[in-house]
Amino acid sequence: MNLSYNAWKTFCECPKKYYFKYRLKEAPTVPQNDYFALYGCLVERFFTMFSNIWRFNSPYMPENVIREKTARLYEDLLATSTVIWNAPFVKFSRQDILAQAQTDICAIMDSHNQNFFFNTQSEIDIKVSTSVGIDLTGRIDFIHENPLDKRILLFDGKGTDKIGKNIDPNQILFYSLLYYFHFKRIPDEVGFFYYRFNEFYPVHIDMETINTLRAKVSLDIKDIASKTFWEARPCTKACKYCDYRNTCIERLERASKRRKKSKMNIQEEGTVTLFGL
Ligand code: SF4
Repeated sequence: MNLSYNAWKTFCECPKKYYFKYRLKEAPTVPQNDYFALYGCLVERFFTMFSNIWRFNSPYMPENVIREKTARLYEDLLATSTVIWNAPFVKFSRQDILAQAQTDICAIMDSHNQNFFFNTQSEIDIKVSTSVGIDLTGRIDFIHENPLDKRILLFDGKGTDKIGKNIDPNQILFYSLLYYFHFKRIPDEVGFFYYRFNEFYPVHIDMETINTLRAKVSLDIKDIASKTFWEARPCTKACKYCDYRNTCIERLERASKRRKKSKMNIQEEGTVTLFGL
């Protein structure tokens, strides 16, 4: 059995959601729409290809080639994605998303003089076995080694337009923990790279942070290995993007209770106003 960062995060949020998604592998009961993921996936695919393959063939990639390769990657991405273009929240057309990604990729490549990616590897899979039969797994977006001082920078790419918001430092620290188990050292710097802003957002790391996370993950792994009942923990944040929210009894009961409570509050407020008159 594997435990990725996403699976671990899901377990911490709601064990029932984890059980449905990662153990039963139940199909989602809400319609899927990959619209929001398109931009980030596209930019990431470009840098993965450039870091792992293209840089060896073409040390400098001209802008027209960058744009052309990105357009081809986009076609492949669209072919394997589910996008409902007429959903109410869709603001940008399929062409807008490509144009934005091409512009941002060119800007990132330019500002780093493309050399940065010569010493960067992307999409590195790490698997670590544990004594309770659960393997910790993760795919690290980027590992960069400074050629001069050999310092290691480990970072995760983000496609969001909200820099520094809703970040979970544990995501990059989880990957750092895997890196530590595998390479027997912690990275020197870790953080998130925001493609739209061409900006790095650092996250603090030292041995104490890693040991604290290690202890927490270790307790959760034992819990997962011995668990026989997967309780639901309905809460606004976890349920909002849950694939099973339309059929989850606990969420529906909570929503119904909240509706009743809010109705009662409105009635009570009405009574107070009348009394005041
Ligand atoms: S809808 Fe909420 S309570 Fe139900 S499984 Fe999903 S996250 Fe858990």
